[in-house]
Amino acid sequence: MPGAVDLHAHTTASDGTLTSRELVQEAGRRGLRVLAITDHDSTGGLADALDEASRLTPLRIVPGLEINCDVAAAPGGRASEVHVLGYCLDWRAEWFQDFLREQRAERVARVHRLADRLAELGMPIDPAEVFALVKEGAAGRPHVAQVMVRRGYVKSVREAFDRYLHAGGPASVARRRLAPADAVRVIRRAAGVPVLAHPGLADRDDLLPDLLAAGLMGIECWYAEHSAQQTAHYLELCRRWNLVPTGGSDFHGPQSGRPITLGSLPLGMDVWERLRARAESARAETAAEPGT
Ligand code: AMP
Ligand code: FE
Ligand code: FE
Ligand code: ZN
Repeated sequence: MPGAVDLHAHTTASDGTLTSRELVQEAGRRGLRVLAITDHDSTGGLADALDEASRLTPLRIVPGLEINCDVAAAPGGRASEVHVLGYCLDWRAEWFQDFLREQRAERVARVHRLADRLAELGMPIDPAEVFALVKEGAAGRPHVAQVMVRRGYVKSVREAFDRYLHAGGPASVARRRLAPADAVRVIRRAAGVPVLAHPGLADRDDLLPDLLAAGLMGIECWYAEHSAQQTAHYLELCRRWNLVPTGGSDFHGPQSGRPITLGSLPLGMDVWERLRARAESARAETAAEPGT
């Protein structure tokens, strides 16, 4: 049964394949009532999405974003990456846009470092080809992976990740260090609700105390790649720590090579109502704090 709510989706402002207007139209066709747009380090799709959705009542657009962080390996474990979602934040604030611009500049620099690394591995790529795909969006490994497919080094984006680009992989290059707790703090400073994205993928519950201390307010419990046990586990953590449970498809567009479709998780309006309530407290707490 398709849901009414999807709190995780990407557009061409980052590594999605639909423009934000196309994404909103797709949400309308699927009968969604609430759609959060959560591009990587960019809010570039939001203005168009809000405009497009104003014609599609009752569809509500929730402003959001996703910040990807690298994390050192746990003792005896492997390096991992942790993604933090932010919702209902003051995304237009000048300081926040400056932060995102810096994040995207680091993504551009990282593409050059990735190209150097791939050349060392005998798979040269031209960064200009990557940037032609990115256009004005936030560059990421999926764009690099697409160029690797075009060059014939791998058959699919998934193979590029599985063999070379995954965290700790032969072609993984470090990002400028932004700890997940720092991402949480930035989102709180922007009066938003920070949510730990798809925690089952990284499986790093050891990081949670730190994230809670930084002001984490939610966990993405419902996610296509979570098992039923994982979803139950994260729902239990939400109950224990009074966090808001969220969920989403992480839709990247029909040409992204992922099978998941927009709005495919059975999430009802109660999920959005709980997030909305938490957004109100985040806003009140930020306003009450001196010096922010
Ligand atoms: P980056 O923005 O450079 O950190 O790249 C991370 C993005 O790559 C994620 O948000 C996903 O969209 C995508 N991604 C990660 N793993 C895979 C995979 N195995 N196959 C396809 N895309 C992936
Ligand atoms: Fe992505
Ligand atoms: Fe993610
Ligand atoms: Zn995502």
